[in-house]
Amino acid sequence: MAVFKILEIGDPLLREKARPVEKITPQVHRLLDNMAETMYHARGVGLAAPQIGVSKRAIVVDVGEGLIEFLNPEIVAASGAVSGPEGCLSIPGLEGEVVRAAKVTVKGLNRHGVEVTLDAEGWLARVLQHEIDHLDGILFVDRAATVRKV
Ligand code: ZN
Repeated sequence: MAVFKILEIGDPLLREKARPVEKITPQVHRLLDNMAETMYHARGVGLAAPQIGVSKRAIVVDVGEGLIEFLNPEIVAASGAVSGPEGCLSIPGLEGEVVRAAKVTVKGLNRHGVEVTLDAEGWLARVLQHEIDHLDGILFVDRAATVRKV
């Protein structure tokens, strides 16, 4: 495993639409491992593959309840709306108020290629929406009502 450099806003790769993971290979497992290590090293709660320079639809999340990995994640249901503060490892020094769905259902594949569904609310729902946005080249500052320096 390895800690990767996290790309910062301004890098065009962060604005690309990431490509689906078509096949589970040792490289996909290595990618997920490296993403988790990079996220923990940076003390983040989530990371998307484009943030380490890989334009693939893969995310890792850990809000303190254990590591969650998703390949090709999709939000298949969303309800409610809640505003809250958000930051991003790719946008150091900024925080914004972002409205997100209060509850989401995310469907995707785990590292074994098995389809999994996760119902999430609160902080976990917010982080999942933030990371899935990264796969479509969307950053929180695009959605934030207000942004401030931290
Ligand atoms: Zn982010």
